[in-house]
Amino acid sequence: MALEIIESCVNCYACEPLCPNKAIYQASPHFLIDPDKCTECIGDFEDAQCASICPIEGAILDEVGTPLNPIGSLTGIPLELLAQYQAAVEATYQAALEAKTG
Ligand code: SF4
Ligand code: SF4
Repeated sequence: MALEIIESCVNCYACEPLCPNKAIYQASPHFLIDPDKCTECIGDFEDAQCASICPIEGAILDEVGTPLNPIGSLTGIPLELLAQYQAAVEATYQAALEAKTG
């Protein structure tokens, strides 16, 4: 029973000092959680302290791989709108690439 930090972590350091079990440590390329120390904060706090402060959606997963802060949960941007923006950015990028390469 432990959480996991994945590659979208931006190494902001916010979570590390909050862990009651000192389970979070700096590593390369991103912070990690020692599964032998993480208790998911049970017995210390009502919610996982690392996930409660993490500013990056999807950076911390539970033991079955579900993000504690799923896409849209922090930004409030609906998934459909996010997909539209991403498609627009991709189209702009492709157009710029084609203009450059001819
Ligand atoms: S869930 Fe709690 S115990 Fe586990 S790494 Fe996060 S802050 Fe530490
Ligand atoms: S708070 Fe989130 S983004 Fe910041 S170091 Fe921890 S896991 Fe990485």
